[in-house]
Amino acid sequence: MKVIVIGGGASGLVAAIYASLNNDVILLEKNSKCGRKILVSGNGKCNYFNSDFTIKHFNTESDILKSIINKNNQDEILNFFDKIGIVPNIKNGYYYPMSNQSISVLESLTKEASIRGVNIITDTNVYDISYNNGYVIKTNNGNYKSDSVILSMGSHAYYKEKSIGYEILKNFNHTINPVVPGLVQLVATNPLKSASGVRIDANLTLYEDKKLINSSSGEVQLTDYGISGICVFQLSTKAARGLYLNKKEIIHINFVPWIDNFLSYMDKRNKKIKNRTISELFDGIMNYKLSNSLLDICNIKYNDKWDNLSDKTKSKLNKIITDYEFEIIDTKGFKNAQVCSGGVAITEINPNTMESLIKKNLYITGELIDVDGKCGGYNLGFAWITGMLAGKDLNDKNKTDKS
Ligand SMILES: Cc1cc2nc3c(=O)[nH]c(=O)nc-3n(C[C@H](O)[C@H](O)[C@H](O)COP(=O)(O)OP(=O)(O)OC[C@H]3O[C@@H](n4cnc5c(N)ncnc54)[C@H](O)[C@@H]3O)c2cc1C
Repeated sequence: MKVIVIGGGASGLVAAIYASLNNDVILLEKNSKCGRKILVSGNGKCNYFNSDFTIKHFNTESDILKSIINKNNQDEILNFFDKIGIVPNIKNGYYYPMSNQSISVLESLTKEASIRGVNIITDTNVYDISYNNGYVIKTNNGNYKSDSVILSMGSHAYYKEKSIGYEILKNFNHTINPVVPGLVQLVATNPLKSASGVRIDANLTLYEDKKLINSSSGEVQLTDYGISGICVFQLSTKAARGLYLNKKEIIHINFVPWIDNFLSYMDKRNKKIKNRTISELFDGIMNYKLSNSLLDICNIKYNDKWDNLSDKTKSKLNKIITDYEFEIIDTKGFKNAQVCSGGVAITEINPNTMESLIKKNLYITGELIDVDGKCGGYNLGFAWITGMLAGKDLNDKNKTDKS
C-alpha cells in the first residue's frame, strides 16, 4: 500500500519510519531539509523526552491523552531511539542525546528512514488534499495519489508561514479548536524597560480574572516589552488562552524569593553594613539595573538612607519587590512560540492508532492535535509517540499485503 506522510518534522519522520515496514512510503517536506524544529529544540541540544512523562505536564486533561502517552508507548519510543543509536543523557529527568547535539537526533532519524526505503521528497509544498477513490495531494511539484495519508505538518509555531494542516483537516470536517501561541514570551503594559536584559531567579504566579491559575519559578529575563525565560514560558500558554478569551492575565513576581520577610531583612542588613545608601544596600543582592528601576517606581532616591524612609514608602517598596504585577496584554506571537495550544479535537482521533474518526486512512500526528505540554521534552515526546502509533497502525493493517 502507498502511504504519504506530509511533513518531515518530529512526528512525520517517526511515522514514516514505522510505516515503512509493510508499505511504500513517500514523505513530502516543504523545506529543503527535514526537521528544522528538531534542530533548534532544547537550544540546539534537543530535550527529546522526560522520565516523568505524565499528564500533569500537559495543558490538556483527558483520558484520551493518558491513553496515547501510556507507559507501553513511552517504553516503545525510548526503545526505538535506543535502536537508532541515540544514547540518552538524562539530567533531572530531561532526556538529551549524549552528544548534546540536536543534529545527531535528526541525522539518526533521516538515516533510519533512508535505510528503510522511505522516499523523502523535499522542497515540496502541499497546498491541498482531497479524496477521490484515494487521497489526492496537491503540491507545487504536481499531484500525488495514495491510499493513506499521515498529516504531520506541525502548527503555526516558529515557522514563517502558518501551517495549512488545520485548513486541510477542517475541509475533512474535523473540529479545530482555537489555536494560540504557547511557550512564548509575554508582553506587558508595564515592562521594566530600564532593567531590560536583566536575568534574575524569581517566583512567578499567574492570576486570571483575579483567580490563581499556576505558579512557576526560575530565571526570568526582563525585556523592554515584558518578560521571557523558561519559567515565563511555563505560564505563557495558559495566559495566551486566557487572553484569547478576553480574560485579565496578571503575573505577580517575587524578585527576592530567597528572603522570607523583605522589610526585616533590610532592617537587619542596614544595621549590619553601616553607612550605606539605599542603592548601596542593594549591592550584592540584586542587579543594580533592576534595583534602580524598582526604586524609581517608588520615587526613592538612590542616595536616600533606609532609616529615613517612611513606613509607607517601605511598604510600597516591599510590594514592588516581592509582588510586582505585570499586566499581560499579548504574547510575542506564533513566530516566537515553541508550540501552539489548540488544534484538532483529540476526541476525533483514535488514541490507539491516531487515525481520524471522521475520515478513514487519514492519520493526524504531533502538534496539529490540540495537545501541548510544558517545556521539558513533553512536546517532542508527544510528537514521537503519535508518529509511532500512526506508522505502526498502517504496518499492522497492511501486514498481509506485503507478506
Ligand atoms: C525553539 C524551539 C525549541 C523547542 N525545544 C523543544 C524541546 O527541547 N523539547 C520538546 O519537547 N519540544 C521542543 N520544541 C517543540 C517541538 O519542536 C515541537 O513540538 C515538535 O517539533 C512538533 O513536531 P511535529 O511533527 O508536530 O511538527 P514539526 O516538527 O514542526 O514538523 C512539521 C513539518 O511539516 C513541514 N510542513 C509544514 N507544512 C507543510 C506543507 N504544506 N507541505 C509540506 N511540508 C510541510 C514543516 O516544514 C516541518 O518539517 C521546541 C520548539 C521550538 C520552536
